[in-house]
Order: sequence, then structure tokens, then C-alpha cells
Amino acid sequence: MNLKNKVAVITGASRGIGRGIALELSNAGASVVINYVSNEKMAEEVVKEITALGRSAIAIKADVSDFQQAKELMEKSKQHYGKIDILINNAGVSHNGLFMDMDIINIKKILDTDVLGIMNTTHAVMNEMIYRKSGIIVNISSIWGNCGASCEAVYSGAKSAVNGFTKALAKELGPSNIRVNAIAPGVIDTEMNGWLSEEEKAELMEDIPLGRFGTTKDIANAVLFLCSDYANYISGQIITVDGAMI
Ligand code: NAP
Repeated sequence: MNLKNKVAVITGASRGIGRGIALELSNAGASVVINYVSNEKMAEEVVKEITALGRSAIAIKADVSDFQQAKELMEKSKQHYGKIDILINNAGVSHNGLFMDMDIINIKKILDTDVLGIMNTTHAVMNEMIYRKSGIIVNISSIWGNCGASCEAVYSGAKSAVNGFTKALAKELGPSNIRVNAIAPGVIDTEMNGWLSEEEKAELMEDIPLGRFGTTKDIANAVLFLCSDYANYISGQIITVDGAMI
């Protein structure tokens, strides 16, 4: 799969799934923008890892939940690389706990990052994609957006919104030759699941027919496919990558 001469912006790429996507897309030839919100050191390490392999990458700090910062992220990316071909909306936060115990600050943080964040970045990039009649957007959703999870009600609601937004935007932007899809990962081995005890992890694994947590590469491979020409006629889809968990 060849992404030579393509420019990809990946939100939340300082670690976890976003980092995995950045490595995979750059390995396929794309120049990548590593967005982060607080972990500058980790973001710069991802840049170093990619440039050491002879590919191009830059790190840009921006809180995607802020409309202006999302806009500046796209402007700076365009200033540096001249264009944006691919947007991967990966940045996200989660919270595990009963809905009745959540306060409005917590609720807003999830909605602002996981829902508004995707809308902010997409809004900031789509004019250029429409003008060029070309673009690829991949949103990182979650299986919980498909089926709902107890103790993750707000997160499930946020990811359902991501799914709806993805399907609607695919219809709106299809005539401009822009494909919009989402990946719904199952349980992936990242810091987001760092709160799970070994016992809880073992229990969770029993619910996964393929018998293991997903890796960031499992998700990155699916994203790479969606960004490639092999997926030229795929748009408006939510593709589940969960080892048959749901
Ligand atoms: P993670 O390891 O916690 O990493 C989160 C990334 O998002 C970091 O790079 C972080 O940047 C960035 N980020 C957070 N808030 C941001 C903001 N407001 N603006 C810009 N960047 C922000 O998470 P992950 O497990 O890789 O998850 C990535 C995505 O996959 C999320 O959308 C998540 O909901 C989804 N997902 C994960 C799983 C899973 O099991 N891990 C399953 C399904 C879906 P800093 O490093 O600077 O903080």
C-alpha cells in the first residue's frame, strides 16, 4: 500500500493507537503530522523514530477540543507540507465509572474531546479537501459506540455520535471525492486501559474469541487499508476491529 507524496495529520499521535497509525502511514511513504496536547517529549520521540527511517514527520501541539487550536493545527500542517491529504481523528479520552457518579466536568471533557474534537479538526480541513476534490478522513470510534458499555455511558454515547457523524459526512462529502470512514476498535493494549488490574484483563480476555487484546498495529493496519487505493469505493462505514468480541 503506497502513500508516497501523501500528507497525513494524525491527532493524538504521541502514544498509543495514534502513534501506531503514524508509524504505519509513514512506513507506507506518507509525511505525517504528530499532534499531541501535553506530551511533547513523547511526540518528539515519535518524530525521531520516523525521521530516523528516512521519512518526514513534525510534531504540533493543539487541543483538538478547542476550535481555534484545531484550526491552527491544520494551518500549521499546511504551511509546512503545502497540503493535507489524510486526516486521522484519533485523539480521545475515556472514563470508567457509573454515570450517576460522573460530574459535568468529566462529562464535558469526554464530549469535547471525542465528539467536538473530531468536528473541529474536520471543519478546519474540509474546505481545502473540497477545493481539491480529494481527501480521506478516518475517525477512531469504539465498539462501545456500536453496542454501549456499562460504566462507559458517556464514552459510548460520544462514540455513537462519531459513528453518526461519519456516516452523515460521507454522504455530504462524497460528491467532492472525499471518503469518510471510522474504525471501531475493541480492547487495545494502550495506556487508556492502564487502570485494569491483571485479574480484570484476564476476565476481559475471556470475552475475546481471538484470545488476546488488540495491538496498536492491528488498528493501524485497518487505517492504512482505508487510506489506500484498495479502499477507493469504501465510504460511510464503521469497521470493527475487535477479535470478534461483539
Ligand atoms: P491513549 O493511549 O490514552 O492516547 C491518547 C492520545 O490522545 C494521546 O496522544 C493524547 O495526547 C491525545 N489527546 C488526548 N486529548 C487530546 C486533545 N484534547 N487534543 C489533542 N490530543 C489529545 O489512547 P488510545 O488507547 O491510543 O486511544 C486512541 C483512540 O482510540 C481514542 O479515540 C480512543 O477512544 C480509541 N479507542 C481506544 C481503545 C483502547 O482499548 N485503547 C478502544 C477503542 C477505541 P498527549 O499524549 O499529549 O496527552
